[in-house]
Parts: sequence; C-alpha cells; structure tokens
Amino acid sequence: MDYRYKNPPKIMIIDDEKVICDACAQILSGEGCLVETSCEGATGLKKVDDFKPDIVFVDLKMPGMSGMEVLEEIRKKDKNIVSIVITGYATIESAVESMKKGAFDFLPKPFNPDELKIIARRALEKRRVSLEAERLREEKEKMRQNFIALVSHELRTPLVAVMQYLEVFAGGVAGAISQEQAKIVNRMKIRLNELLGLIDRWLKLSRIEELKLKEGFEDFSLSSAIEEVVNLVKPFAQEKKVNIEVKSMSNRIIINGDKTMVKEVFTNIINNGIKYNREGGKIMVESREQDNFWVFDISDTGIGVAEQEIAHMGDEFYRVKREGSAAGSGLGLAIVKKILAIHDGKLEIKSEVNQGSTFSIFLPKITRGNGVPNPNP
Ligand code: ADP
Repeated sequence: MDYRYKNPPKIMIIDDEKVICDACAQILSGEGCLVETSCEGATGLKKVDDFKPDIVFVDLKMPGMSGMEVLEEIRKKDKNIVSIVITGYATIESAVESMKKGAFDFLPKPFNPDELKIIARRALEKRRVSLEAERLREEKEKMRQNFIALVSHELRTPLVAVMQYLEVFAGGVAGAISQEQAKIVNRMKIRLNELLGLIDRWLKLSRIEELKLKEGFEDFSLSSAIEEVVNLVKPFAQEKKVNIEVKSMSNRIIINGDKTMVKEVFTNIINNGIKYNREGGKIMVESREQDNFWVFDISDTGIGVAEQEIAHMGDEFYRVKREGSAAGSGLGLAIVKKILAIHDGKLEIKSEVNQGSTFSIFLPKITRGNGVPNPNP
C-alpha cells in the first residue's frame, strides 16, 4: 500500500486505549499518512474541526462521549468524512447500528497491521469517490445554472425582440406591406411563438426546484381548481370536438400545495387528453381515495401508447414516435412529474393503443400533527 500522494491523506484515531492510538499512528504514518489521535470523544471532535481528516477511526466503547455519539457528530460536520468503527465486541448489532449512523466499515479488536492498512485503503478510496461525486454534482449544478441564464438571456431575449419587430412590420408601422407579405410575416410569428413557448416550458421545468414552492403552500379546494382548468381548456376541446366530463367531485377534497402549479398538472394532462384524442372523443375526470392519497383519474378515448413507452413518458423531451402525431415538446409530463414530486404525489399511467389512456394523479391528503389524515370538514 502506498499512501505517499502529493497531499498525504489525513487520518484521525479516536480511542481511549492509548496503545491502540499509538500503534495505529505508527503503522499509518509509516504508510505516508498524517495521523492525529485523541483518547477521548469530545476532544477528538474538536480536533476533527482543525485537522479536517479524510477518514476517522472511532472506538465504540469509550468513557464519556460514546463512539456512536462521536459518529453522529462527525456525520453532521461533514458527510464526506469516512468513519470506521473500532470495536472490541464485534457483535452484529453494534456493527449494524454504527453503519446506520453512517460508519463505512468496522475493525474488530484485536487487529493486525495489515488488517488496519487494508481497511484504511478501502476507506480512502471511498473518500476519493465521494469527493469526486460531490465535485461532479456541483459542476453539473453550475452548468445547469449557466445554461438557464444562457437560454433566458442570450436566446429568449433576442427572440422576443424579433417578435416585436415582426409586430411592427405586420402593423405596417415601418411602411405598408402587401397581403402576401402579411401572410408570410404571420407564419413567421406563429413559428416564433412555438419556439418561445418551448423555451418558456423548458425554463419553467428547470426553475421548478429553485422556486422553493413549499414556502408558498396553502390549502385549496381541488374541485374548484379543476373547474377553472376545464374552463380554460374548453375552447381547445371544442375545436378538437372532444367532450370533457367531470364526475361530481366533493368540495371536501382539500389539498395543501401551490394551486397554480397543481392547476398546471391538470391542464397538461387534460390538454394531452384532447391533443391525443380522436374527433368526437371523450375525457372523463373522476376522483377516488387510496390510502393517504386523493387520486384523480383522467381517462381519454384517444390513440393510447404502447406498454413499453409508458416508462419513458415524463422523461425530458421524450415523445412517442408515431405517424401524424400532434406537435409537442415532450416537456409537459416532465413538468407534471416534477410538480407532483414537490407535492409528495405521483403519476400513474395506464394505456392501450387505439383504446385510450388513464392518467392517475396522486396527491396526499392533508395530515396535521399526528400524521393521521384530517377528517375533512
Ligand atoms: P408533448 O408536448 O409531446 O405532448 P408530453 O410530455 O406532454 O409532451 O407527453 C409526452 C408524450 O407522451 C407525447 O409525445 C405523447 O406521445 C404521449 N402522450 C401524452 N399524453 C398522452 C395521451 N393522453 N394519449 C396518448 N399519448 C400521450
């Protein structure tokens, strides 16, 4: 084993038996590690702050602060510090409990130098992998933020400006235009609007996490929210000759959440039910209860999707490939799933090709204090 890296790994030993501390320090220093020791939990924890170890060996049975408490505190300080429990009574229970508290492994006493070195090497590898994973997560988040800024400023802003110029053109403000020219400008406006719509949906999806929606959660009646959604999508349904039927829904159904976002969920699903329906088709909205959830089944008599497609519906930009399919972005269901996740809800899809689909929206019943659902007023 060779620990002689450019930056030597830092290892901390917390054990009330001084001989163990000294022996471990000698063995691991000989391997090129920087070692710090402590014969007591509380002082050991203080040293963790200054020394900033990569891995920590903690004796489970110590007078004063117990090894388990030390483990918990270390985890609170830095979840990437890898801890190993040294135990003189290597029972399964103590090992399992320490693992639950975040220990990576355990080292039963008595142990020989090789056993110590092997476990230290494994722990250092684990540390390296966790730090790398964290670095990648941070990098990904930074890229995501940069991309959001890029899309909204560098892409969306100039497109909005182009749209405004087209409006000026179409209005004849920059000089009279012929009917033929007006038609072309109008087509440009329609395509540009579609593109802006796509960008706005993508931005919405990307920003859902940032909005800290939970802070603005409030109780609201789902039946009134659905009524508002149905009124909103009615013109589209009429245009496509699709009938929407809402089975009578109790106004006892109260949800705690962000009403605008929940309405967005229903709008997306019902709009899809219209878009992927056939002329003269139907959409049915019904509610039921299942365990601690209110469930809203939205069924349509549309074109349906094959079983193997269902698992992918809701992946960003995923669209089911088929001939003559309506235009879309493949973002609607991704938005739905994210909003439902924030509300501790979920979406279930059942579908049969050429028969229709049922999208079941699960939203949790309100529980207050004792975890028992409120008997609604
Ligand atoms: P899109 O903007 O493409 O509609 P969605 O994320 O809302 O994006 O839907 C993803 C895909 O799932 C769609 O391309 C469509 O093929 C399929 N889909 C969604 N809803 C239905 C439905 N009610 N009936 C049949 N297919 C549907």
